[in-house]
Amino acid sequence: MSLFSAIELAPRDPILGLNEAFNADPRTDKVNLGVGVYFNEAGKIPLMKAVATAEQLHQQAQAARGYLPIEGVPSYSSAVQKQLFGADSGLLAKGLVVTAQSIGGTGALKLGADFIRTLDSSGVVAISNPSWENHRALFTAAGYQVQDYRYYDPASHGLDLAGMLADLEALPERSVLVLHACCHNPTGVDLTPADWAQVIALVERKQHIAFLDIAYQGFGDGIEEDAVAVRMFADSGLNFFVSSSFSKSFSFYGERVGALSVVSSSAQEAERVLSQVKRVIRTNYSNPPTHGATIVSTVLNTPELNAMWQQELAEMRNRIKSMRELMVQQLKDKGARQDFSFVTGQCGMFSYSGLSADQVERLRAEFGIYAVSTGRICVAALNLNNINAVTDAIVAVSG
Ligand code: PLP
Repeated sequence: MSLFSAIELAPRDPILGLNEAFNADPRTDKVNLGVGVYFNEAGKIPLMKAVATAEQLHQQAQAARGYLPIEGVPSYSSAVQKQLFGADSGLLAKGLVVTAQSIGGTGALKLGADFIRTLDSSGVVAISNPSWENHRALFTAAGYQVQDYRYYDPASHGLDLAGMLADLEALPERSVLVLHACCHNPTGVDLTPADWAQVIALVERKQHIAFLDIAYQGFGDGIEEDAVAVRMFADSGLNFFVSSSFSKSFSFYGERVGALSVVSSSAQEAERVLSQVKRVIRTNYSNPPTHGATIVSTVLNTPELNAMWQQELAEMRNRIKSMRELMVQQLKDKGARQDFSFVTGQCGMFSYSGLSADQVERLRAEFGIYAVSTGRICVAALNLNNINAVTDAIVAVSG
């Protein structure tokens, strides 16, 4: 008998399943709005010029590929810290923050999850309803009990702050809170600084453990602006965790470049924390890969390349914004029955469009337009060539 005869087929990842269905669709005018990836105006994943230039420099340098330190490229970690906390951060000056390079933002979440399991926590982690679909699976696999907190209000297409605060209040003390720091995936709905202040006060009172997930820094209002939640937590004096990623902001998905940063209360504590995070890394994959983080570090630490990257990222951000505006305008002009004006107020790559699962299914079946059944669409996959077809189809299914 085979060792695996009783093994069941694991369920397919719903978004990857959608991609497979898209790829198999023979229609030439099909559009994939189901992805979580930025496409440029030509419908391609861009290779950023700043990245290509840094890669050429490295190619020429013919650097050897020795093992990295367990926590990764040191110049990368310091660049990550400056981007998250600000170059003039008092926390950085005092040595309160430690950062470990990770296998994308996902890897940072898992490192943090494993490390927090060794601390005095309630064992409960709370994620927003809805959230990035991997949060639940990842924290469940790490041994947590996962609960939802209210977040999105379908009626207003905005934040249910009162519901969110009530649910965070009802959690046992010392629960882990996964908080999307900006450009919430999947809704595009973010907290205002005043909202964050209320969350921070609650976290402090309940001794919760905040875990900020920032995978889209620079896709909302700007690199500095999108760090407001991180900066406010930093000012609060609390201990907290940040998982960050360059997958999107460097268009660097396959290179798997992320970081886990932990804010401690003293430099001595920070050193002990890092030693434990290193233990988690060592027992999982020993040390991280060299290429991606070296390139990100070169771009961030070289003023001309940094300026070039910021310019390219701003173009991406502005292109998404203009697609939001055009979509809303076209839907209005074409006489859509639903009011879609809320789409311009949402932030980042995604929009919870308000389309129902039935409408999403009709978009796919009748028009070859693929979206997530929850109504999430990737605005970054719209362009001047496909937006007309998309808005025509949305009007047809929402009429
Ligand atoms: N967190 C959120 C909210 C995300 O949307 C994503 C990616 O889509 C990640 C984390 C993971 O990022 P990475 O691809 O760098 O692992």
